[in-house]
Amino acid sequence: MSRADRCDIAVVGGGPVGVVAALALHQAGFSVQLVEQGGPPPPFDPAQYDSRVYAVAASSARLLERLGVWPAIAAARISPYRQMQVWARAAELGLLFDAADSGQAALGWIVEQDLIRAAAWQRLGDLPVRTGVQVLSVQLPEPGGDDTHGVLQIGNGEQLRARLVVAADGADSPLREQAGIDTVTWRYAQRAIVAQLTLAEAPAGRAFQRFLETGPLAFLPLADGRHSIVWSADTARAAELLALDDRAFAAALAEASQHALGEVTALGARSAFPLRLLHARDYHRDGLVLVGDAAHAIHPLAGQGANLGFADVAELVTVLAAARDAGRDWASARALSAYSRARKAANLEMLALTDGLYRGFGSALPGLREVLGLGLETVNRIAPIKALLARQAAAGSG
Ligand SMILES: Cc1cc2nc3c(=O)[nH]c(=O)nc-3n(C[C@H](O)[C@H](O)[C@H](O)COP(=O)(O)OP(=O)(O)OC[C@H]3O[C@@H](n4cnc5c(N)ncnc54)[C@H](O)[C@@H]3O)c2cc1C
Repeated sequence: MSRADRCDIAVVGGGPVGVVAALALHQAGFSVQLVEQGGPPPPFDPAQYDSRVYAVAASSARLLERLGVWPAIAAARISPYRQMQVWARAAELGLLFDAADSGQAALGWIVEQDLIRAAAWQRLGDLPVRTGVQVLSVQLPEPGGDDTHGVLQIGNGEQLRARLVVAADGADSPLREQAGIDTVTWRYAQRAIVAQLTLAEAPAGRAFQRFLETGPLAFLPLADGRHSIVWSADTARAAELLALDDRAFAAALAEASQHALGEVTALGARSAFPLRLLHARDYHRDGLVLVGDAAHAIHPLAGQGANLGFADVAELVTVLAAARDAGRDWASARALSAYSRARKAANLEMLALTDGLYRGFGSALPGLREVLGLGLETVNRIAPIKALLARQAAAGSG
């Protein structure tokens, strides 16, 4: 087996979390290889818009800055949002969160998914990357055995040996399944529709979220006057919305936003994603560790999925580098347990918060919807609810 088939760490999955993991581990001095079954992300083209956008939290922006990825994102297309307006019954009775209230420049930044991937991919430099090939299976080392490397079988017939396999292969993670790691999962009876549009009367730099009985609808400001929406709707309503032509879809959006944002003009294609909550019971096995959606998937109403994945990456690199620098076995169960403990606690907290918001605003439980209907004054007096909503709005405070 040649040196090219051996590395410290094999990252499987070149989604936003996997590519950032590969880059961060490489920059921390580990020898890394990345395998992605799809193609590399297309280079940024200002004429093209990715309908998948993320509300990037401050903690994620700091990680991307440290890795040298943020400048390329900022130079291409980025939109800070300074305010977020949240309402259920009537826009004027809702809540307005403002970054200025907590002395921040922004609550977060809206960035297209492809742009994050492309900017991070660009920084990989000479890191060995295999694209267009699947990892078919992984054989993990026997605990205490002589061979300390796991063996990955790759679709093109090659093998790759690695001390540690980082599974960043998404919520359906085949590697998680092969490693025998169970999950707690339930499907929300909702789909999230994403699309882009313009709003005639939306104040610049403000995101909006309306909690409808059929699910939350978010408007996220993009850099050039467009907005991106994430409309989570009951399955039947989502099917109706997807079947509408652009004019009728724009009319449905105007009605759903109670005409509070002026005339809506729909732009381009719509796509839809099934929604689920998923949490892995364990984040590691000997020689394998989960990051990103492979470890946890979350309802998009809080815009936190990728942010949690980036926080996983930051923690994993810190733990592995600290073990290595202290002369300990960095791929040991002890090091991986430290990562798992730290990230499980933080991820479970956000999963519970988001699921609580979903249930609180759902049609079955009137709770928070009713409270929001009472208006800002009342909600301001109900500290826990305000805090819950503030956490959700302030992606930038993480
Ligand atoms: C509608 C919607 C809106 C969202 N909005 C936000 C938001 O505002 N903010 C936010 O932080 N998050 C948001 N999220 C969540 C975010 O999309 C996910 O958390 C994020 O994509 C997870 O990234 P990942 O890299 O872990 O997984 P994925 O993006 O699923 O990437 C997994 C990669 O692994 C590859 N792969 C899989 N199996 C193999 C294999 N065997 N061999 C090789 N490669 C393989 C796949 O091709 C894929 O590229 C949203 C999600 C949805 C559905």
